[in-house]
Amino acid sequence: VFLENNNRAYYAGNGGNGDMLPQRLIGNALRERVENIDHETCDAGDEDTFFVADLGDVYRQHMRWKLNLPRVKPFYAVKCNPDPKVIELLSALGTGFDCASKAEIEQVLNMGVDPARIIYAQPCKTNSYVRYVAAKGVKQMTFDNSDELRKIARLYPEAELYLRILTDDSSSLCRLSQKFGASLDSTDSLLSLARQLGLNVVGVSFHVGSGASDPLAFLKAVQDAHFVFQQAASYGFDLKTLDVGGGFFHDDSFEQMSGVLRKALDEYFPAHTGINLIAEPGRFYVASAFTIACNVIARRTLEDPNINMNVDPADSTSTLVNRGETSYMLYVNDGLYGNFSSIMFDHQQPIAKVLRAGGRTMYNTRAADAVEGQQGIQYSIWGPTCDGIDRITESIRFDSLLDVGDWLYFEDMGAYTKCSATKFNGFSADHDVIYVCSEPGAKALLGMA
Ligand code: PLP
Repeated sequence: VFLENNNRAYYAGNGGNGDMLPQRLIGNALRERVENIDHETCDAGDEDTFFVADLGDVYRQHMRWKLNLPRVKPFYAVKCNPDPKVIELLSALGTGFDCASKAEIEQVLNMGVDPARIIYAQPCKTNSYVRYVAAKGVKQMTFDNSDELRKIARLYPEAELYLRILTDDSSSLCRLSQKFGASLDSTDSLLSLARQLGLNVVGVSFHVGSGASDPLAFLKAVQDAHFVFQQAASYGFDLKTLDVGGGFFHDDSFEQMSGVLRKALDEYFPAHTGINLIAEPGRFYVASAFTIACNVIARRTLEDPNINMNVDPADSTSTLVNRGETSYMLYVNDGLYGNFSSIMFDHQQPIAKVLRAGGRTMYNTRAADAVEGQQGIQYSIWGPTCDGIDRITESIRFDSLLDVGDWLYFEDMGAYTKCSATKFNGFSADHDVIYVCSEPGAKALLGMA
């Protein structure tokens, strides 16, 4: 187990366990950490929320990407989770990086990544950041409007530009097209202006929306991009690269989504054309690699469901709580203003599981503590801030009675979580990450024992 605490990295226990089941490895790391906390005497913050990150999971996702989209070079979207170990691993695996700000670009450059492996994929950029990338030699960047073209002509005329086009993002979790993307009605005039300004347009990019669910959105976007490639040729631009953006889920839908995309690329941008294909996947790489553990800091017993804040007393059909049943509100030390910001910003619905540790019970790799239907004990789960919207789970049932000091954990917490946590109410937004690695290949790249 590789630990990083307050920016200090060290190894602890279980060295060389590349053959251990990933879930077991994560479970051991969770348990080891919480069993070392004495909840009765620990210092303030010792029982803070923490992550366990399996870098082997990131490695496997990369292999899965290469298998399904062998022609498409991924530029990992740093915004999704700028974890330094993830960046280090992906850098060693040879991916590029999609950055949207000076800080992201600086972080990646500081890890020794060549500027040619970075795309500044923000169509509306800050002037001083453009000057910064010009000085650092980060040439690739996107644009989608004429004001931005004039800005680039003034600040960085040598930049290599990607025209970002509008997509149908109606099937995605986080829609982007209301903010970014040039419609096909405007691409002609933008290319004409770029030519007039003497700028260097090298490719087309699109993004079908983060967490997309309609594979046909990729097909349509590839067709549109093909049209813009031809349009650009009529202005004398010899476009070399298509950037198919992000939007890929980490679940089983990836194989279907990438299958449609692969076919579309083979049809509209076949290998013999020599067009480079790149992408900007974020959540695909990191969502499942991170598990978060939260401590139960307070509990409120609700003995009369008629005053239960979870039940509308006028609604006799409510199924959240059985009439006459005692239910509980659990308050944990992380919430919507922290790492669960993904509930607000990313429409996630994290599922709590009970961490069985600390001598109370044993961690169970099947984690089968949540109970379906009306069995078990009913809970709602709330964050630590004073805001009423700070609720993680409206209703969940577990087979055991939980109390202060118990731990819950949530899987699939790697995408758009830590990066958008705030410090509201003085709660930390910077939590420890315990790194484990279930893949020998990733360990070797990272120099982990
Ligand atoms: N590229 C751009 C320009 C984005 O805005 C985003 C997400 O918002 C991404 C890539 C990453 O998207 P995802 O995490 O859905 O793959």
